Amino acid sequence: MPTTPTHPDAPLTIDANVRASSYFVLRATHACRHCRHATPVYALALPPGHESTEAEIELDDDGESRGLDPGAFHDWLFSPPTWQRVPGPALISQVGILAADVAAHLRQAAPALRPDPDGQGQWTNFCEHCGHAIWEGDLYPTVGQAFCPKDDAAATQVLVQTVHAPFAAYASMIWSDGYRNKWPLFKRLGVACGEAD
Ligand SMILES: [Zn+2]
Repeated sequence: MPTTPTHPDAPLTIDANVRASSYFVLRATHACRHCRHATPVYALALPPGHESTEAEIELDDDGESRGLDPGAFHDWLFSPPTWQRVPGPALISQVGILAADVAAHLRQAAPALRPDPDGQGQWTNFCEHCGHAIWEGDLYPTVGQAFCPKDDAAATQVLVQTVHAPFAAYASMIWSDGYRNKWPLFKRLGVACGEAD
């Protein structure tokens, strides 16, 4: 029986940087680099209209801000998060924290995706054959990988489950539709992608 949150209005009391009123659980197949067997892998995506905290500030390798004086940087660092509505969809990865209801849903909907105790608890796919953690760099960034299908035909290999329940997470990587190579995946979610008029 699907897990339906019983308290949709309950605050999602986690340090989230993305949230939405619904979300997508994606399933694809990946050839494990350790054992070479095909294994199911899962990812999370958010529909247009999801929200993200305003964090457009850029930090260089030393953690120093660019383009803000120290006072403004301090104010930004210690200010409460400002939620912004994002008009486009997003694929999220490097997920550190998930709202409890979402985590509970994934336990049955995406059993290969779970926190990696050897990777700071980051939500990670594990090969169902050999048990190795699957590196995100094998799944997300490059055209032809499980969550970067090269065209509409390849995108049909991604199975999409829409979950009509609140979502909140802290994700270090948010693939927006600014990443053109994610357009076939976003179209698979039913989102039109194209040049702005
Ligand atoms: Zn394997």
